[in-house]
Amino acid sequence: MDAATFRGRRERAAAAARAAGIAALLVSPGSDLAYLTGHRIHESERLTCLVLASDGAAALVVPELEAPRARTASPGLEVRTWSETDDPIALVAGLVPRGGDVAVGDRMWAAFVLGLRSRLDGRSLVTASRIVAPLRMRKDEHEISALRAAGEAADRVYERMRAGSFAGRAESEVSAELRALLAAEGHDDTFAIVASGPNGASPHHDAGERRIAAGDTVVLDFGGTRGWYCSDITRTVHVGDGVDAERRRVHDVVRRAQEAGYAAARAGATASSVDAAARRVIDGAGYGAYFIHRVGHGIGLDGHEDPYLVRGNDVVLEPGMAFSIEPGVYLPGRFGVRIEDVAYVDASGAAQPLNTVDRSLAIVR
Ligand code: ZN
Ligand code: ZN
Ligand code: ZN
Repeated sequence: MDAATFRGRRERAAAAARAAGIAALLVSPGSDLAYLTGHRIHESERLTCLVLASDGAAALVVPELEAPRARTASPGLEVRTWSETDDPIALVAGLVPRGGDVAVGDRMWAAFVLGLRSRLDGRSLVTASRIVAPLRMRKDEHEISALRAAGEAADRVYERMRAGSFAGRAESEVSAELRALLAAEGHDDTFAIVASGPNGASPHHDAGERRIAAGDTVVLDFGGTRGWYCSDITRTVHVGDGVDAERRRVHDVVRRAQEAGYAAARAGATASSVDAAARRVIDGAGYGAYFIHRVGHGIGLDGHEDPYLVRGNDVVLEPGMAFSIEPGVYLPGRFGVRIEDVAYVDASGAAQPLNTVDRSLAIVR
């Protein structure tokens, strides 16, 4: 994405700020900053902060030593530097126009927020997500292709894993292999939940030293960041044949719940209605008490972002929105099943999967 893309995003954010009576957005390192400037940088005790005024004026305040990186990452953006003994809070506060609220990035560290609050005394602070999240939710075609490429990479990793062996290996070994394959597929950051047997009942189980054995159902939930955009996929496999009827039934219920989620996830539908559609299938099969999380989350620069597909969220889906659809059933002390794809709403208004690899209960060695 080029400088004009980022300038266009800043213009849209400034216009939205104007409409909301917000004088300026103050955005520190993280995905909002990357989205608005093209600058992806670690969080630090040294303040880096985009000051985007509602009239469209933008300045990136950075510690002097970071200025070369900032200028390379964000050509055309004014860079203001502070040296080690300066007060960066004063520099930022001095760039905020008079009048109106001040929006601070949702994930800005408290130390900076509190410093800014005392320096901007009397001004009310609001969260910048009310301006930036609606922009980030509506992805352009480059963003959708980046998500698609990340999803296809994760699909290939699953193909490889499914052909390999599980019995006798520790969850942590399988997790390490998943992460290595993701890295080989171009991912920078990676995660891999491997939840075998009774551990499968914990949706975010940390892969541990449990040895996987024949007869185990194993939940594999993995992905990360590739070319700035995230992948996130879950498939459930079974070690050895002779899967009992209940495991088959639960897997089938979860699969039908995901299909119901896909059918409901159309432009014009609310986020909550997708959750409800998937939940109805699981409730109807008698497993409602064991589906203990929302059906999905938005995905993009962050692994979890708006829109959240959860009861009570009346955000209306639109073309360009991307999110996971990931129903699950978790039976304490026994096993768990989850199936997760990333999907997006296409121009026709239908939800299309960005993970297309086989969703059936794979029998593995
Ligand atoms: Zn999760
Ligand atoms: Zn996941
Ligand atoms: Zn997810």
